Amino acid sequence: MFLNELARKPDELKGVGPKTSLALAKAGVKTLGELLQYYPRGYEDRLTPVPLSGGMAGTRVNTTASVSSLDYFGWGAKKTLKVTIEDETAQGVLVCFGRNFLADKLKPGTRIRLWGSFQYRFEELQSSSFDFEEIIPGASTSRMFGRILPVYSLNADLSQGVLRKAVESALKDFGRFVEEEIPPEPVNKNDLLSISRALSNIHFPETPELKSEAEKTLKYRELFFLQLMVGRRAWERKSVRRAESPLTGLLVETLLSRLDFTLTPDQTKVLDEIKKDMSSGIPMARLLQGDVGSGKTLMAFIAVLFCRERGAQAAFMAPTEILARQHGENAARLLEPLGIRLGFLTGNLRDKNRKYLLEALNKGEIDLLIGTHALFTKDVHFPDLGLIIVDEQHRFGVTQRLALKKKGAFPDLLLMTATPIPRTLAMTAFGDLEVSIIKTMPPGRIPIETHLSRNDREEKVYNWVGKELKKGHQAYFVFPLIEESLKLDLGNAEDGIKYLQDVVFPGISMTLIHSRIDEEEKRRRMRAFTSGEIQLLVATSVVEVGVDVPNATCMVINNAERFGLSALHQLRGRVGRGKAASYCFLIFGESLSDEGKARLKVMKECSDGFRIAEEDLKIRGPGDLTGKLQSGFLQLRLADITLDTELLTRAREDAFNLIEKDPGLISPENGCIRRVLERCPPYPAIFLESG
Ligand code: ADP
Ligand code: MG
Repeated sequence: MFLNELARKPDELKGVGPKTSLALAKAGVKTLGELLQYYPRGYEDRLTPVPLSGGMAGTRVNTTASVSSLDYFGWGAKKTLKVTIEDETAQGVLVCFGRNFLADKLKPGTRIRLWGSFQYRFEELQSSSFDFEEIIPGASTSRMFGRILPVYSLNADLSQGVLRKAVESALKDFGRFVEEEIPPEPVNKNDLLSISRALSNIHFPETPELKSEAEKTLKYRELFFLQLMVGRRAWERKSVRRAESPLTGLLVETLLSRLDFTLTPDQTKVLDEIKKDMSSGIPMARLLQGDVGSGKTLMAFIAVLFCRERGAQAAFMAPTEILARQHGENAARLLEPLGIRLGFLTGNLRDKNRKYLLEALNKGEIDLLIGTHALFTKDVHFPDLGLIIVDEQHRFGVTQRLALKKKGAFPDLLLMTATPIPRTLAMTAFGDLEVSIIKTMPPGRIPIETHLSRNDREEKVYNWVGKELKKGHQAYFVFPLIEESLKLDLGNAEDGIKYLQDVVFPGISMTLIHSRIDEEEKRRRMRAFTSGEIQLLVATSVVEVGVDVPNATCMVINNAERFGLSALHQLRGRVGRGKAASYCFLIFGESLSDEGKARLKVMKECSDGFRIAEEDLKIRGPGDLTGKLQSGFLQLRLADITLDTELLTRAREDAFNLIEKDPGLISPENGCIRRVLERCPPYPAIFLESG
């Protein structure tokens, strides 16, 4: 049986009753397989001797000692036993709070094995937290001494002792017989232990070295299967053969010739990559990374034209209605003149319109359907969906993307993101995607000037913005909250617009948008701002993604310390989109945390989105990222893809080599993998991007 097939309940183990099994279930352990994978969070080394005199550097004492004398201090209910002991190096005192009964066991002259943490107090070496057992000549050492013990994460109803016993008996009765999952070649090549030996040594290491080897083995196992599934997915995608369709690129050329700019070298490269993918017999699965404003949308439109040339339909999904609408407007400007028939679908489309739209789509009268999440609802049918584009892909769940993908046979897939994906993630969750990067910005952009300002010195900011407005430019004011909050003393958009209108910029036209304003109205206001009819837009972070108004030159963010780095970067990216110099003002409150300070500093000094993402990772630490990944996404128990990169790389190489040699996993050595994948795949297939 494989480890994940051990489906029996922990209460089959000796010493595990209903109460413990309930407590285990609360900790996520419902089967024996899960119990064996409830890995320790640390260890107590009760193997390596540490004498009394050596326990001062914060380590635990692990020694054999004899009891010299007993004594008491305190009175009445507080009367407490003090046991003086000594080993070969020093004398110490065991303070037995609430454990006066130990007097019977610790008679003078008794020899004990002792484990505890000692401190100098009252000029003595004292311990009140210790564990001991009497040494009886001829009797063997109990299971709790003379070895390395696991330390598990506990909850209120779980004790270390119960868990240790449960795991130990699970190892003895079941763990020993767990079937090997990894073929001999990678096992030998990477010096891995057998899985049963690894399990035994991760919980109760025979030696510290074996603990490390066990850890490596089990981490490798997780990463190997992860990469194997990624690799298989890529292989499956590549084994799909559709007719190759050489593309002339005529439509694309027409589009490009009508632009008043030329593609940047990076864009040209991406164009070639997309063209190559889309004319090949293998469906495209490409992730396009590029900073805010780097010109990704145009690349998406180019893909739409290639798709059109093949005679198929395209879907373009954006995370918000504002953004979808903006893509719609751009498509109307750039693609409609080339004969592309557009459709636009959001959740807000009134019933009757929706019906007509879906009918037209179904009859093949729409070449490009742009919209929000609404695109993957059930009643949306594409007769021939050839291309799916997902903008700001990280804002969608994998399930949603897959739902869209199922609407076509083998559609090409283009995912776009302005949020750089760390290399390790690119190797795992996105492991079977090809990656394109646009690094350089379109020329002529003047770098955005970023200024920090305390919120009692806003005057200067207002003056500056006032000057820009006088020149006819537009500005954004962003607030963290929609309305006044009793709990948080932060700027809010509703009061903000009142103040700006009444006090700061009385003659200026302005409007407010936030998530609680009805979509229709939001759209109206947005359009008024985009068309220049309105000069100042007050908003919450709803304007974070995608809004493109080149005439806007000022972005003022109130309580900027409340926003994360990526949000700040996205917000700042709303300006600097035209030919004029642009400014971003980050206004912060008095109570500024160190982290908040660090974020603002990064924003002031740095404008490169990739670097900002790295800094973000540094400030927040990898824990945040991995935490998110591990909870319910990759479900790695032991390995950490941001820390175990070397092992990850090795596991990836091994897994990919193996699939290249034996894609069907039919050779006898690889039979174990095939059976694991058939009987108990370690990861849900769903997490893999291209589905
Ligand atoms: P993002 O990558 O953030 O989606 P967009 O696609 O919205 O960026 O592009 C930002 C702006 O840059 C758009 O107005 C677009 O027309 C313009 N743009 C795109 N490519 C170029 C280019 N090669 N030269 C000049 N401007 C460009
Ligand atoms: Mg964009």
